Amino acid sequence: MNCIVTGGAGFIGSHLCEYLLHKKHQVFCIDNLITGSRKNIEHLIDNSNFTFINQDIIQDFSFKEELDMVFHFASPASPVDYYKYPIDTLRVGSIGTENMLRIALKKKARFMLASTSEVYGDPKIHPQKESYWGNVNSIGPRSVYDEAKRYAEAVTMAYHREYGLDVRIARIFNTYGPRMKPDDGRAVPNFIKQSLRDEPITIYGDGSQTRSFCFVSDEVDGLFSLMNSNYEYPVNIGNPEEYSILELASIVKEICKSSSEFAYKELPVDDPKCRRPDISKAKEILDWQPKIDIREGLKKTIKWFKKTHMWK
Ligand code: UDP
Repeated sequence: MNCIVTGGAGFIGSHLCEYLLHKKHQVFCIDNLITGSRKNIEHLIDNSNFTFINQDIIQDFSFKEELDMVFHFASPASPVDYYKYPIDTLRVGSIGTENMLRIALKKKARFMLASTSEVYGDPKIHPQKESYWGNVNSIGPRSVYDEAKRYAEAVTMAYHREYGLDVRIARIFNTYGPRMKPDDGRAVPNFIKQSLRDEPITIYGDGSQTRSFCFVSDEVDGLFSLMNSNYEYPVNIGNPEEYSILELASIVKEICKSSSEFAYKELPVDDPKCRRPDISKAKEILDWQPKIDIREGLKKTIKWFKKTHMWK
């Protein structure tokens, strides 16, 4: 099958390209490389089933090939990145999403939106089920990402209702693994870099806020199962094991055998206090659940950070 992966040179996008190539699909990776990287896909470039297209999807563009599936993953995704590119983030979620929906419609392809647990904001319901509408500050610094993704969900459903487009919406929770950008500011790469250098580990707030971390191979597995299902409404794809940020930092420190101390910093504005997916829907519809526990996943990720020397 012919597949487009927008954001294919990003962290999750590049793993998805690899996965699709293993399944013998033809992959067209579209990325403008503002937060993605050629490094993430350089091992795929020689594969005759892989084509890289350097394109900003906010701009109008045409796609000549036949098309069966569109995986729309393009967007800055870490808080540091979307604070740096607020307007691009809003535009890729709105204009970029509609451009890709239009291409999918024209080609009669199936469309998957990479949505996010950020649509739940700072949740008042815990764990988060797909039926929860969220608690989002529409004007805070995170709103450029949260509201762009909420709009992206809305326009995706509108194309489904209005034009009968075949759609999938994956609500992706915190995902980690090899190829995370060492400087994207997220907890996992920060803690690994800091632990490996025996530098202070930055804990924002008191570290009691929680997140649930899914290893990237589990995530991609879940995304692919969702694309191949018949379910057209949002599905949480994440790992339901919940850790406080302090617990996460302690596990990373222990695996790295680090002598780092904890350095407490101010909590960012609107930082969600808790986050954990209810994945009963994914279990029921996709027969999917994550297999890799946090220690195993972190060990693989730390090994990759050490090998690539990217923390130096
Ligand atoms: N965090 C932290 N120290 C860091 C980076 C992040 O304590 O060096 C916290 C952050 O405030 C948040 C959690 O870790 O509560 C997860 O942050 P991340 O940026 O990884 O993801 P997101 O906030 O998008 O879930």
